[in-house]
Amino acid sequence: MLMCRDLAMIASDYIDGELNTAGKLSVKMHLMMCGNCRSFIGNLRASTELMKAHTSGTVDEEFVRRVDERVAEALEAKGRGNDQT
Ligand SMILES: [Zn+2]
Repeated sequence: MLMCRDLAMIASDYIDGELNTAGKLSVKMHLMMCGNCRSFIGNLRASTELMKAHTSGTVDEEFVRRVDERVAEALEAKGRGNDQT
């Protein structure tokens, strides 16, 4: 069973589509049960897309910084969730 911290480690590979089928499946199963990781993946995906857009010079840096803050908040919320269980 995939844990939240395992998911955090492979999240960027998942978003980039670099996981094998078994890896993708375990991430999806975890996301079905874990709202914290769903929002974490959502934030990470948004910031990944922003970074790609940023490479092509279409994103303003202040916006990217705000997204980064949101990702950090999501990670903190996830940590608190772990403490409660
Ligand atoms: Zn989780």
